[in-house]
Amino acid sequence: MEVVVPDPANESSLPWGEGMARALVAHAADIILVLTEDHFCRFANPIVLDRLGYTPDQVLGQNVIPLHHPDDLPRAAAMLQAAAAHPGVPAQCEVRLKHRDGTWRWMSVIAVNRIGDPAIGGIVCTLHDITERMEASLAAREALRAQERAHQEQQRLADAKSHFLRLLGHEFKTPLTAIAGNAELIAIEAPGQEGVQESAQVIRSEARRLARLIDDLLLLDRIEATELTISRTLIDLNAVIADTVGRLRALDVTRDIHLSLARQLPPVPADPERIEQVVTNLVGNAVRYSPEGELVTVTTDFRPTDVEIRVIDRGIGIPADDLETIFHRYQRSRSGMAAGVSGTGLGLSIVREIVKLHGGTVWAESREGAGSTFCVRLPLKVPAEDAAAGPDRVVQLK
Ligand code: ADP
Repeated sequence: MEVVVPDPANESSLPWGEGMARALVAHAADIILVLTEDHFCRFANPIVLDRLGYTPDQVLGQNVIPLHHPDDLPRAAAMLQAAAAHPGVPAQCEVRLKHRDGTWRWMSVIAVNRIGDPAIGGIVCTLHDITERMEASLAAREALRAQERAHQEQQRLADAKSHFLRLLGHEFKTPLTAIAGNAELIAIEAPGQEGVQESAQVIRSEARRLARLIDDLLLLDRIEATELTISRTLIDLNAVIADTVGRLRALDVTRDIHLSLARQLPPVPADPERIEQVVTNLVGNAVRYSPEGELVTVTTDFRPTDVEIRVIDRGIGIPADDLETIFHRYQRSRSGMAAGVSGTGLGLSIVREIVKLHGGTVWAESREGAGSTFCVRLPLKVPAEDAAAGPDRVVQLK
């Protein structure tokens, strides 16, 4: 078959006649309308039935403006006006038109003023159905908006929770300090009275436990709000550990906490206050989860790139499948719960967050019934990304 390359400038070179043009319009997949200047329909191709539910006859002679969605009318009017003002120049917009069944169909409309063309004598509008695409993109936009609303609500709740916790912390801490202080006074003023001493000791340690719980909740809230920052300085890790353990020994005189600290431990870039918290939580756990009288040992060691703290106990131990989950918030091990030791599952998640902020790692090794070892490894060099994070996170090293 011969292939003819038509020259659009030369009508007679076109391989089709009027019949073929009619056939093309009749079988076009898009609606083609020809409108008068005042928007009455002079011509409609058959696909209008399939796309909008009207036969061409039902559309002919009708003003098409009332078919538009009220919200889209200004857009449609502006497009028709632009087309009318510039003959031969296409104007385009996207509008909703009413289907005969009452639903709205999205159409991408291109209008060209061919009023001056005697073969056409009107504004030619081609309408391409884009309902599916528009509905999908509107649904995606709505989903995004819903997600944003949910995020804002989540943020509002988190803020309300933080506000409540801070208020609660303040309201609890003052009376707790008074309770512990008065218990101390009672103990001092009743020397030799065994029962009174014991009661005062219980009051003090319970007040301490509650104060620690409040501190943990407040700290966790700051971690959740990504407000927790660390101020690194070069610290003598052994000294920080010795001080912390000294304070813990004073609180629990019955327990033997042994220190085995490496000589010539290099200075560690760390936040002393936060490291004290890590040691307090780990040693506190070692004491709580091992029987009275059992030894708790804290060791330090170092390699060229990092230092390691180990807190070792001979307590109840942790089942192998709980070794990872105990570092998650509010998670307790089966052995801990079975032993009837009260706890909240907050301490280790705080330890993990603090160690992570230092660029270090923490893990537990254990054998049920034989004891546990908690290991913290801290880098001797500040990780590059932290150093780049600015003075907010990293204080100038001394
Ligand atoms: P808490 O002790 O208040 O429950 P933690 O987050 O400090 O919270 O500990 C989580 C869980 O890990 C504990 O509930 C306990 O089951 C287990 N655990 C922690 N330290 C030890 C330990 N030294 N020996 C045995 N189990 C431990």
